[in-house]
Amino acid sequence: MKSGKKMLTGLTLQELEQFAESIGEKKFRGRQLFSWLYEKRATGFVDMTDLAKGLREKLEAVAAIGCLQLAGRTQSNESNTVKYLFQLQDNHSIESVLIRESSRRTCCLSTQAGCAFKCSFCATGAMGFHRDLTAGEIVDQVLFIEREAGVDLTNVVLMGMGEPLQNYDAVIKACRLLNHPDGLAIAGRHIVLSTVGIVPAIYRFADEGHPFRLAISLHAPTDEKRRILLPIGRKYPLAELMKAVRYYAQKARQHPTFEYVLLAGVNDSEQDAEDLVRLLKGLPCKINLIPYNAAIEKFSTPDAQAVDRFVQRLLPLQAPVSVRWSKGADIAAACGQLAIRHP
Ligand code: SAH
Repeated sequence: MKSGKKMLTGLTLQELEQFAESIGEKKFRGRQLFSWLYEKRATGFVDMTDLAKGLREKLEAVAAIGCLQLAGRTQSNESNTVKYLFQLQDNHSIESVLIRESSRRTCCLSTQAGCAFKCSFCATGAMGFHRDLTAGEIVDQVLFIEREAGVDLTNVVLMGMGEPLQNYDAVIKACRLLNHPDGLAIAGRHIVLSTVGIVPAIYRFADEGHPFRLAISLHAPTDEKRRILLPIGRKYPLAELMKAVRYYAQKARQHPTFEYVLLAGVNDSEQDAEDLVRLLKGLPCKINLIPYNAAIEKFSTPDAQAVDRFVQRLLPLQAPVSVRWSKGADIAAACGQLAIRHP
């Protein structure tokens, strides 16, 4: 609600049809609104030229579009990356990142204002949890950035602030809107949800059979180490997490991606790599190594040689391993650096 008006961004086709009827209009107006909102990325009712002037005025009076206010924008000097700071209507802030690479245009979205999980190396974790985002606030990050940057996004990763699977309903609703063929039409396999490892939510996600992909923040190969880095590891030990991931992999017929942040001297030894091989053996998967992006002082980034050694030790898995030297580290837009620091 914006000054008592109904917020349309984030509503599904069915909800827009219901809304149209609720203001005394024909149901098919809902489909027109859907197309204006998500396919044509309209910013105001004036744009909606196939609606009669009277209807546009009526909509203006009772409804609103767009829930985000731009509060800051930082362009990286090193890479084609832009960080956006948005203010929500209740004054909380979130960040999103646009990453442009050769053929890919990826948006990294926030799903919560802040985060409750307190992973010891993550800047967002250090700021604490404020609230869940609505589906509208999640989708609007994409709509806003596409308009502002003049791009058609090809990929969306839910790896900004927050834990997607803890804000499950809004996140899935937003992903469906992003994926809808009559709307933004982003391919399901190009929408990735990254989770800290909430076991019951992984089962739910698997059982619901979504086209979206799941990435799991593993970050350590043993419970002993993982518990220290990710407090959630105390609630869900690795055996339970891995069981859930195997279940998902089988159900979804997907090769899950494991994210592993490399922290110098903490989880980047050859022994750690060997433990990781043991943990993942027999599970077809992808591994995404993320050399640490400076965020919390007590951790540091391993050098290229240490990263290389780690990669070599993973060869027995015969799994694709990618090393993500992050984009946008100079503007604190890289993984785990999102915590509302703008120049
Ligand atoms: N809550 C979700 C998504 C958030 S962040 C999750 O935990 O998966 C996306 C990834 O960046 C996670 O794997 C997270 O652990 C990692 N990350 C956090 N801080 C980081 C940092 N400073 N450097 C590199 N990766 C980091």
